[in-house]
Amino acid sequence: IYGKNRRNSHGINLNISLQRELLFDDMRRWSSHQWEARPITATTGKGALLADKPVIAPFTAQYQIGRSQWFNPDNIAAVMNAGAAGFERWRLLAPRYANQERKAWLMLLASALENHSAELITLCVLEAGKTVQDSIDELREAVDFCRYYARQIDVHFAQPNKLTGPTGECNELYYEGRGVWLCISPWNFPLAIFIGQIAAALAAGNSVIAKPAEATSLIAARAVEIAHQVGIPKDLLQFLPGSGVDIGSAAFNDINLAGVAFTGSHKTARQIALQLAQRNGAMVPFIAETGGQNAMIVDSTALPEQVVRDVLRSAFGSAGQRCSALRVLCLQDDIADEVIRLLSGAMLELSVGDPLSLSTDVGPVIDSRAQHYLLRHIRWLEQHAKCVGKAPKAPEEGTFVTPVAYEITDFEALREEHFGPILHIYRYSAKSLNTLISNINSLGFGLTLSVHSRNPDTASRIERGIRVGNVYVNRDQIGAVVGVQPFGGMGLSGTGPKAGGPNYLLRFATERTRTINT
Ligand code: NAD
Repeated sequence: IYGKNRRNSHGINLNISLQRELLFDDMRRWSSHQWEARPITATTGKGALLADKPVIAPFTAQYQIGRSQWFNPDNIAAVMNAGAAGFERWRLLAPRYANQERKAWLMLLASALENHSAELITLCVLEAGKTVQDSIDELREAVDFCRYYARQIDVHFAQPNKLTGPTGECNELYYEGRGVWLCISPWNFPLAIFIGQIAAALAAGNSVIAKPAEATSLIAARAVEIAHQVGIPKDLLQFLPGSGVDIGSAAFNDINLAGVAFTGSHKTARQIALQLAQRNGAMVPFIAETGGQNAMIVDSTALPEQVVRDVLRSAFGSAGQRCSALRVLCLQDDIADEVIRLLSGAMLELSVGDPLSLSTDVGPVIDSRAQHYLLRHIRWLEQHAKCVGKAPKAPEEGTFVTPVAYEITDFEALREEHFGPILHIYRYSAKSLNTLISNINSLGFGLTLSVHSRNPDTASRIERGIRVGNVYVNRDQIGAVVGVQPFGGMGLSGTGPKAGGPNYLLRFATERTRTINT
């Protein structure tokens, strides 16, 4: 395992590899287990659930790993009322006590997730089709979110900020929860983002309604069960698997809604923003973390081997299904041929297939709809661009897409986000750098950027020119670490604040000023 990963430069150290071997034994046990996403209805407990919808493992059409029941949106009022009652009950407790409880829950949840690692990692592989290593990283990130936001409670909520005022007057600014947050998450980080949103909303003093992506309800259900087992009250965390459109439409109009945290595509974000603008009742904050059309710019001073290593990881890791993934590799003309030559050779080394196999680099895409969409884009590229790299052919059965690289001559192919292992390569000259920068900005997205250059002036010029949320210099552009690389974009890529950063919780809270005549 270790040799393979070292050859592929995935940066996995021996420690983790050993853990992987141990985990794998445990995972084998779990992968023969049948999961059932049990409905969690903190409210009426009767008739809250719609007909069964089977969840099919994405990489083989025959393999059903569990069943999840969808929430009936007609019952949304009961859920929102329960969330509001739970919020109010906790809001009226002494802040010091309530904050310490919330912190303790999140710390306990972090440990409990670690204790269930084999089960959760296996579910992540089976349900989301993520590779074993991606699933390990996913669990790690979920745990990091819990601990990071738990610690942030002390930073933001423990003490009011004292403000200077006239003699005889005490002025304080403090933060508290807003109420019931609807947290809507995507399938590509079915545990990390799902838990990250919940942890942030709870840490800031709210109650949460957690709506997982349709394709990944099982892992989310297990995570919520674990959260309840560690003591998070059922009315402070309610689980609503089901259709985003239906649950969203019902919840957005409920009087008790106090905020929406959404991660997903920018098109969905726009629909939600429109619905929220038209809702009856108070205006509520909307946090949207959406997609990217991410570039890597490589100038002639870059090291080609390093570039190729970082491109493989950024463009094809997680089958390209990361919002941060590299979509367009921009090569300065005098280094382009060399990088393309090395890259096309390295792509032949990628192993595409069963995500449960430890030697797999690239697993399936999430479902057949995504596969068809990506294959349609590849057919378009066949007509309009030149194929310069291809991994060995992906298995026929299952929702695989063979990683490919196409050289393009304009940015027409980049108007839409193609969420899979498709890399576009574009050549530029030193003279046309400014045009390149404005072309990338004109796409409207602003999530990640990687710059490969040994010339600090060039790197800085590119970094300042391209408006994105996360810039990486001389490295890959995925895998932001909680508390180390706060993550989030601008423009079509999101509203901010940055997840895993010091200001994230504040958006979930409301500010109050207290003036006391002493
Ligand atoms: P999606 O927008 O299709 O769905 C995301 C969630 O929104 C799901 O839970 C879905 O059920 C729900 N939803 C869909 N329509 C809705 C509506 N009208 N009202 C309320 N909820 C609705 O996205 P996806 O396919 O699940 O995820 C992939 C997308 O997420 C990509 O665009 C990717 O770039 C983006 N993403 C962004 C980040 C980030 O941090 N910026 C992280 C991960 C994924």
